Amino acid sequence: MTGALVVGAGISGVACATAMAEAGVIPLVVDRGRAVGGRMASRTLRDTGTSFDGRVVDIGASYFTVSTPAFRSVVDDWVARDLARAWTDSFHVAGSDGIEAVRTGPIRYAAKAGLRSLIVDAASRLPDVWSSIDVASITADENSLIVDGERRSAVALCMPNAQAHRLIDASLMSPELDAALTGITYEPVIAVTAVFDEQCWDDFDGMFVNDDPVLTWIANDGSRRGDEAPVLVAHVNPVLAARHLGDPASVLPLVLATMRRILSLTAQPTWVDAHRWTFAKPMAAHREPFHLEGGRLLGLAGDAWADGPKVETAWLSGHLLGGELARRLRDS
Ligand SMILES: Cc1cc2nc3c(=O)[nH]c(=O)nc-3n(C[C@H](O)[C@H](O)[C@H](O)COP(=O)(O)OP(=O)(O)OC[C@H]3O[C@@H](n4cnc5c(N)ncnc54)[C@H](O)[C@@H]3O)c2cc1C
Repeated sequence: MTGALVVGAGISGVACATAMAEAGVIPLVVDRGRAVGGRMASRTLRDTGTSFDGRVVDIGASYFTVSTPAFRSVVDDWVARDLARAWTDSFHVAGSDGIEAVRTGPIRYAAKAGLRSLIVDAASRLPDVWSSIDVASITADENSLIVDGERRSAVALCMPNAQAHRLIDASLMSPELDAALTGITYEPVIAVTAVFDEQCWDDFDGMFVNDDPVLTWIANDGSRRGDEAPVLVAHVNPVLAARHLGDPASVLPLVLATMRRILSLTAQPTWVDAHRWTFAKPMAAHREPFHLEGGRLLGLAGDAWADGPKVETAWLSGHLLGGELARRLRDS
């Protein structure tokens, strides 16, 4: 039998594998994406017709917060090595007609090189991480789990539950596992990136847009990354996003008109793009930190656990599942 497998190299998968490795069990980590990071996604601008080609933009998670000592120590290390940065504690709040207030809250963290760079850093400390590996099926015989034909001592599925559900053979589905996988629904987001030649709005870091049918959030990516580049990322209201998932670019005219109105933009962007997140955020989360089918060591972690849906809770979920899997493997 081959060793333990972590499927998914977003923050929960990398945290799971790190906890296992720290406990002396080195898993193989695979992800179907071309790069690690999952929803902590940063894309590199190309062929924009602006001077910002080569620059990275965060098109998934906007930022993260920290409330637990365990995640704090991870973030402190990123900050000490100049990978993460305390971005802001104040966001604007807008309604459909424009800006209404500025609200102060917890420190929001970002990354100079984009949030994906933090996962790249964490993954670089693991010996065995493979991208572009799309796991198709998980079955089992009497003794062990079988992933795409290969026996595994333990498997951690660190991804949205809806994606994990597709992989697991019906013969493995206990009532508890079925409830864990199907009990949470996800809402979609379309993230629209707009690159301008120069800033044509009043300064802000991020802006929650309330009660608007088109947008929920606008991030000033230049402020977030610290280079002040004139790049905005807007998130489309999930109800509208759901109607445009088949053709995300079709939402662009509406999004640009709404951004122009809310931010009083004085120029058009030079380049725009729409990225679809079908499973962007779970609408609720299990209170438990993870799910583990004890008999065969099949675990579930991610932001549908640990009271999600956030970067920090996804990390915590993976971290705790990894520790538990390592303990059970050592004891077996
Ligand atoms: C638009 C958007 C905005 C957000 N904003 C915030 C925010 O501001 N603050 C915050 O805290 N959180 C935010 N979030 C949520 C945050 O991004 C997630 O909670 C967190 O990144 C989830 O990490 P994860 O590891 O659980 O899942 P993911 O990051 O989704 O990782 C799962 C990985 O599994 C891989 N995978 C799936 N199926 C397979 C398969 N069959 N084979 C191999 N690999 C597979 C995927 O490729 C992916 O890399 C946002 C999310 C989105 C989409």
